[in-house]
Amino acid sequence: MTMETNIRPQLAIEARWIIPVTPDGAVHEHSTLIVDAGRIRDLLPSADARQRYQPLETISLPHHALIPGLVNAHTHAAMSLMRGIAEDRSAITWLRDHIWPMEQQMVSERFTRDGTLLACAEMLRGGVTCFNDMYFFPQAAAEAVLQSGIRASLGMVVLDFPTPYAANADDYLNKGFAARDELRDHERITTCLAPHSPYSVSDKVFSKILTYADQLGVNIHLHLHETTDEIARSEAQFGMRPCLRLDGLGLIGPNLLAANCTHMTDIEIETFAMQHAHVAHCPASDLKLGNGIAPVARMVEAGINVALGTDGAASNNRLDMFAEMRLAALLAKSAGDAAALSARRVLEMATINGARALGMDDNIGSLEPGKWADLVAVDFSAIEMQPCYDPVSHLVYVAGRGQVTHTWVAGALCCERGILAHMDHAELKEIATQWQGKLKPFHQ
Ligand SMILES: [Zn+2]
Repeated sequence: MTMETNIRPQLAIEARWIIPVTPDGAVHEHSTLIVDAGRIRDLLPSADARQRYQPLETISLPHHALIPGLVNAHTHAAMSLMRGIAEDRSAITWLRDHIWPMEQQMVSERFTRDGTLLACAEMLRGGVTCFNDMYFFPQAAAEAVLQSGIRASLGMVVLDFPTPYAANADDYLNKGFAARDELRDHERITTCLAPHSPYSVSDKVFSKILTYADQLGVNIHLHLHETTDEIARSEAQFGMRPCLRLDGLGLIGPNLLAANCTHMTDIEIETFAMQHAHVAHCPASDLKLGNGIAPVARMVEAGINVALGTDGAASNNRLDMFAEMRLAALLAKSAGDAAALSARRVLEMATINGARALGMDDNIGSLEPGKWADLVAVDFSAIEMQPCYDPVSHLVYVAGRGQVTHTWVAGALCCERGILAHMDHAELKEIATQWQGKLKPFHQ
């Protein structure tokens, strides 16, 4: 047998622990990840790696866990500019009386680009390498994505009412398709159809969206059953719950990612499981808006692919996937079963499940040869992290985003010890300050 030796890949990362998440949930101690041309080439014991490879660069992380980049499966990145602007209000009041009127006056390409830039900075610093976005002006969001180095799935948003972005549903769709065409050659950007919700999109428009999704082979990303109010209004208007309405329209299927799903009956869970639809669980936002707690343990048990999202910073108020992981694990146990949703399951939700929900699991979501090197290093050396019997449980129950030291996307280092490679901190602060001045009249 001949052994490949002296191969010169781009990068070797030696770490105390490497946690690939899939295929088998194993934790590799004192191992090395080999990266070449932006993709993962190999994962092997460090002693073997030193014999086999002569990398152009070696990074040693003796007290760290190397994990897949976190996938934020549902957010509205540009809303980072609205962080903390309309607090302690129920979802429906928050949206209809505060957020939508503010957006009618303030949203622009500039708003989206600046807000998304701020969000990308926050996410990269906190170990998020990919986010699934739903907002206006996707080309402007794309500018921020391309500058920051992060990966994103950008929604072609659709609503039935006019906004500064589009006049009507057809206009939203046409603008979305134009954005899709313009962005199709960028490796770090994908697009999906994003009808906002069953209460803001008509049956006729949903049918069109379904046809386009089938023709183009793109996913559909929407909010569903976020509040009891949404369900009650649907029962009054359509004589049925939104989930049943969407099922009747043929929307529930393997290319659907429904965010929130805070209120789901057993039959609705069964429908989602049978149709292989995906859920983006957003625990912090659902709690803050008083929506409730999604029945995640039941959804997971039924076989639904449940991913994890922050929702927007206007309702969270953090784009912090470590906080979401801990909250998701604890909330799932609140029904009285401490075994519900283990740390391992939650780490899967924040990584490979998110990748699956976005149809990107062939390329991201775990540390397996052939996938993009979207990676995060978490430092375990702090006193607060001692002792450590199980690094996976520590990632969920002990670590915070402050422990993230390195974030790579496609093998490129986008953030090291809080310093962003492609964004200037002073400029980001200036952008936030300028928008704070403009949005201040809306702060109540
Ligand atoms: Zn949302």
